[in-house]
Amino acid sequence: LFAAYSNCNLDKVKAALADKDTITVVQCAPAVRVGIAEDFGGELGTVAARKMAAALRKIGFDRVYDTNFEADLTIMEEGTELIKRVTEGGTLPMFTSCCPAWVSYLERNYPELKEHLSTCKSPQQMGSIFKTYGAEIDQFDPAKMFVVSVMPCTCKEFECNREEMNSSGYQDVDVAITTRELAYLIKDMDIDFNALPDEDFDQPLGLYSGAGTIFGVTGGVMEAAIRTGYELITGKPIPAVDVSAVRGSDIFRTATLQVGDIELKVGIVTGLKNVAPVLEALKAGKLDLHFIEVMTCPVGCVSGGGQPKLLLDSERDAAYQARTKGTYAHDAELPIRKSHENPAIKKIYDEYLLEPNGEKSHHLLHTKYCTGENNFKK
Ligand code: SF4
Repeated sequence: LFAAYSNCNLDKVKAALADKDTITVVQCAPAVRVGIAEDFGGELGTVAARKMAAALRKIGFDRVYDTNFEADLTIMEEGTELIKRVTEGGTLPMFTSCCPAWVSYLERNYPELKEHLSTCKSPQQMGSIFKTYGAEIDQFDPAKMFVVSVMPCTCKEFECNREEMNSSGYQDVDVAITTRELAYLIKDMDIDFNALPDEDFDQPLGLYSGAGTIFGVTGGVMEAAIRTGYELITGKPIPAVDVSAVRGSDIFRTATLQVGDIELKVGIVTGLKNVAPVLEALKAGKLDLHFIEVMTCPVGCVSGGGQPKLLLDSERDAAYQARTKGTYAHDAELPIRKSHENPAIKKIYDEYLLEPNGEKSHHLLHTKYCTGENNFKK
């Protein structure tokens, strides 16, 4: 069944690429760039961002964009939402909403806690900017655009098909494929991945900071939010860009950070089975935190179900560690490491969105959560 579903998505991608009237846009999640090389004999955790951009261009996509840009956008929106909830009053703790499996779990099992979720869409779904802002930049007809996401995740296809994910006036993201499926497509088209030159993603929606790339690891969303939140609240540079207090792999870890006058208490949960005790503690009034990151997969998206398959169970931990290390190394080598310093982020707010959490952002980048089954397309 999975093979049929999977081939069906690749067939849709191939049909869009073959249709001369269709404008094809692709975006890649942070974790894909530290996984895909493994399917071409690369060492575990190899960072292949720029080779992947070259492969996508060779496949024939008209625009090669990057979900890392939308991760930076998520930080602007989610960070602003958190600051408002903390300083002006709002439901706390606020939970991250980047992981569709976690969001769906909460909707179905703890609907009474849904106000705790950030209203931000995930970075993938902030891809609503492709058929709006992106279409305006290139003077494309959004009705002719076909947006493909490459994700480390087997839940992202469910997310892009949620019925509320159409704030561009069209389905915002048409198809999500996995890292493995992209590797299959590259091989199927006889592209020699290892011989490709390094290329950049297209601008401006492919420009990203190190904060955007660490979304791929557990604690990464939290660290990215702290880098920006600290500077927005205090107006001063954060003392250390590497926020080691939120790194690690413990299934539930907490930290307290002094941010100006605020003693910010944060938590990170990794692995869905570990979240129920946290939610029960919240319901019992025993959880004193402002912000909690939840990711379903063992060490975040680098360990997602759509990443290259590991033949031996014993390889798994080594692969997860190597992909995590590759992610932090990529962050450290990037010239910009904070979302609010990304010039393409400044540009989109200057000329299109105007302000984080503003009217346009609320329409395109935020959503409402459902209860029960009504988040599936009929
Ligand atoms: Fe998908 Fe896993 Fe990442 Fe959640 S943590 S978005 S389920 S890959």
